Amino acid sequence: MKTSYWLKLDKKNRTHVCPACGRKRYIRYIDIDTNEYIPINYGRCERKSHCGYDWPPWRGGYVKKKMYWEMWREAKKVRESRNDDSSLSSQD
Ligand SMILES: [Zn+2]
Repeated sequence: MKTSYWLKLDKKNRTHVCPACGRKRYIRYIDIDTNEYIPINYGRCERKSHCGYDWPPWRGGYVKKKMYWEMWREAKKVRESRNDDSSLSSQD
């Protein structure tokens, strides 16, 4: 099965130091395959109004664009298949 979500935000562990503001409110991304953090510059600071640091992996080139589009296409396919189902049931 294709791993559409091979990266996830580690929301349980919020004790990382934000590279932007220096507070321990930083959420890092985890590579699900290896269960390891990807480089610290990819992540999100929880102090949105004060810091606002938010650097998703697909923005800095960590995730190849192709991978990103595959994820997007996958999500679109799911939406379209749902639409098909509803149109079928409405025809009944
Ligand atoms: Zn911050």
